[in-house]
Amino acid sequence: MKKVLLSAVAFMMLFSCQNDQTDSTDLSTAAVAQRGCASQDVLDAQLKADPTLALRMNQIEAFTQKAMLTNRLVNGKIVIPVVVNVLYRTAAENISDALIQSQIDVLNKDFTATNPDFSAVPAEFAGVAANVGITFELVNVVRKSTTKTSWGTRDTMKNSKRGGINPTSPSNTLNIWSCTVGGGILGYAQFPGGSAATDGVVIDSKYFGVSSDSGASYPYNLGRTASHEVGHWMNLRHIWGDASCGNDLVSDTPVHKTSNFGVPTYPYASTCLPAHNEMTMNYMDYTDDRGMFMFTEGQKSRMSALFVSGGARSGFGI
Ligand SMILES: [Zn+2]
Repeated sequence: MKKVLLSAVAFMMLFSCQNDQTDSTDLSTAAVAQRGCASQDVLDAQLKADPTLALRMNQIEAFTQKAMLTNRLVNGKIVIPVVVNVLYRTAAENISDALIQSQIDVLNKDFTATNPDFSAVPAEFAGVAANVGITFELVNVVRKSTTKTSWGTRDTMKNSKRGGINPTSPSNTLNIWSCTVGGGILGYAQFPGGSAATDGVVIDSKYFGVSSDSGASYPYNLGRTASHEVGHWMNLRHIWGDASCGNDLVSDTPVHKTSNFGVPTYPYASTCLPAHNEMTMNYMDYTDDRGMFMFTEGQKSRMSALFVSGGARSGFGI
């Protein structure tokens, strides 16, 4: 029975990966009108280029499902060392140490349910709202000047031979690149199972850290792009499963019709059946920064499974 379930999950993953192919070559530095995250598109491209990636991801999925079923999860404290790699052409792109620390602070709050807006979680979802119990520690900032106006989503920012910055110790360090991505993309992450050389998270410098509500980064000025992307880096899918009423492989998140934007008013009724409300305030939706403020226990289980012995990110130790 378990085997059948896992095969079904693996099949669904493969199926979803063959859909939603979009072209990310049309890049510009225009202001972003709507949240765009390229993680799934980058994954689709990687799966096409490397047939062994699907196998590795299916193994990670099987391990994750098993770890969740047997409750062999982390009770200890996980502290993630972080290196921020800053690629800049303009003064604005050369983000300050203070802005970088503001981003680390947001990650620490969001992943420990100490974000001030956590109390806004509706009563309907309060029972599954999670303290993920993972913290982040900035260990280094690497800066490099460049003549590039935008970097796109093909991982060139992670390669020193192509003008970027190589990741520092990706088996036990979260690398975050700050640069201008372009193409309406706020950022993207690499899921567990990908190449170590490209492991980490990319955040457009305009949407890095916390800045003023009246500035150009609004409504993506509260550091939640990184919370969303680090969620992907820890194996979370978009809450709508990148499909109409799709599956995000988490049991306690409601089914979503598609991505939600702006700040939907609660209750936001889903058009997926049976009738229910969507959890638009989950970090893995596409709402504005001030509209997202929770992970669930199921998402926490999924993330935690990476860090146990044998897990895809067990190099981070416990
Ligand atoms: Zn995303």
